[in-house]
This record gives sequence, structure tokens and C-alpha cells, in this order.
Amino acid sequence: MQEKLYLNGSFFPSDEAKISVMDRGFLFGDGVYELIPVYKSKPFLLGQHLDRLRVSLDLTGINKELINFSKINDAVNELISVNQYKEHSIYIQITRGVEKIRQHIFDKCGEPTVLVMGQPYKKYSVSEIEQGFKACIQDDYRWTKANIKSTSLLANVMLKNSATKMNKYEAILIRDNKLTEGSASNVFVLSQDVIKTPKLSNKLLSGVTRNLLIELLRQNTIEVSECDISKEEVLSAQEIWCSSSTNPVVPIVTIDDISIGSGKVGKFTLDAYKIMDDYINQY
Ligand code: PLP
Repeated sequence: MQEKLYLNGSFFPSDEAKISVMDRGFLFGDGVYELIPVYKSKPFLLGQHLDRLRVSLDLTGINKELINFSKINDAVNELISVNQYKEHSIYIQITRGVEKIRQHIFDKCGEPTVLVMGQPYKKYSVSEIEQGFKACIQDDYRWTKANIKSTSLLANVMLKNSATKMNKYEAILIRDNKLTEGSASNVFVLSQDVIKTPKLSNKLLSGVTRNLLIELLRQNTIEVSECDISKEEVLSAQEIWCSSSTNPVVPIVTIDDISIGSGKVGKFTLDAYKIMDDYINQY
């Protein structure tokens, strides 16, 4: 069966959906997005993702009043039901819409373009998690509005691909000698026996998984500090993991081929993985 997607109020077979070349999403990357994992046919933390989508729309000035959020919510559930997704996430993208001529100024723009579609993704197996992943350090040369979940992802794309070329799972980003996040994840560090993650700012995304992990760890009486973390502290950390919606806890065992801690996946990381996994299974 041909998979369906949702575009601007209607459902289409995915290879029949079309948007204009004058869409500002295409011309400028002028849009915002969310990616929501689906577990047991249920979108995980959909409310939190839609809340962050509203924040991204506010921060970019894309007109939220023209967007019907209850229709988006229904479209997500409808697509999960008709496409019977397994190991899928739902991708929501809203662009500022279509223009008559290409121009930076957007005051003549029509209605936002709203797309909802499924995306297969690879969830790591327990044995891959126990094995751990390699990362590298890179300069965070992105813009300083990384708190917006914008579709303008060229810098993230370049950083992730340069890590992949070096056979690394993730590029861990440093700005002004401080950890910000990964190219497509937030980062947690165990240092001096305390779990630390960068405090929220305009330099990193307020990850839905990050925020839930902090809450769950604290509920389990595990201390988490949201603070500045220097590059030196990253390289001398006892444990490190990356978090994102598609893979909530991904252990990092080497950075630039230097072992992190023992060079094996540590206890705190495995505890965080298990706490999150239990939460997902009960969701
Ligand atoms: N930081 C960046 C740059 C990301 O692209 C992502 C996810 O795509 C995250 C952090 C993690 O966010 P979330 O947990 O909401 O998926």
C-alpha cells in the first residue's frame, strides 16, 4: 500500500504530494519542525513536541494564528493508524509559506505550509548500546539561535556528515570552550561523580528527551546539574551520552579516539538508558 502523508489540510499518497518552488521553506530554509517517535502505535510526548513547535513559531514570527494545531494532532494519529508505522517517527514541518517573488522580506507571504509524514528510523539494539559509540569534537560554528528547531540545518548537516566520514556517531560541539550539544542531540556528562548537561540557552535546543531525562533521573534521586561544561571537562569525563527523540540514551566511549573513563559504557549511562526504557515501555 502506498504510504500517506498530510499536506495543508489533506491526505495524499506520499509520491503525489507537491509544494511550490516558491515555498520559503525551499528557497530560504524558512521553517520549523519536530520529530516524534512512535511507540506501540502511540506518538511519544506529542504534547511536549507541539509546545516546542509553538515556541519555534513564535521565535521565527511564523504566524501561529493561521495554524490549526488540533488538525495537526489528528493528522499525526490518522497517519499512525493508516500507515501502521513500526520503528517510525512522525515528522512535522511548518514553513512560512509561498511567495510571489523570492525576497527576504516576508510580509507578503501567504499561509504557512504544513506537512506531516512518517519517517523510518533505526533504534539501536541493546547490544549496540552496551558496545557504545564513538564521537568527535568540533567547533560549534552554527548560528546563535540554536534554541529554534529550524529547518535551516546546513551547519548541523555539515557537522554530522564530517563526523560520519570519520566513522563517528556524533559531533560534540564546543563554543567558547564550552560544550553546547551534539549536531543532532543533547549531551550529558558524568564528571566528578555528578551528571551534568549544559544549561538551556540560545546556543542549544531544549531537547524533549533531555528535559524528560533530567526529570526522571531526579525522580530516581540521581543528581543532575545544568551548568557550563568546559572542553577539558568533556575530554576528562567519566561517562558521556547523547540524547535525542530517536535514540534517547546513546553512550559515547571515545572522543577523537581518546577513551572516555574506562572506554566502556558506564553504570550511570546504563541506568539512564534503563530508566528511560522503562518509562517508554509504560507510556
Ligand atoms: N539538539 C539538536 C541539534 C537536535 O537536532 C536534536 C534532535 O533532533 C536534539 C538536540 C534532541 O532533541 P529531542 O530530544 O527533542 O529530539
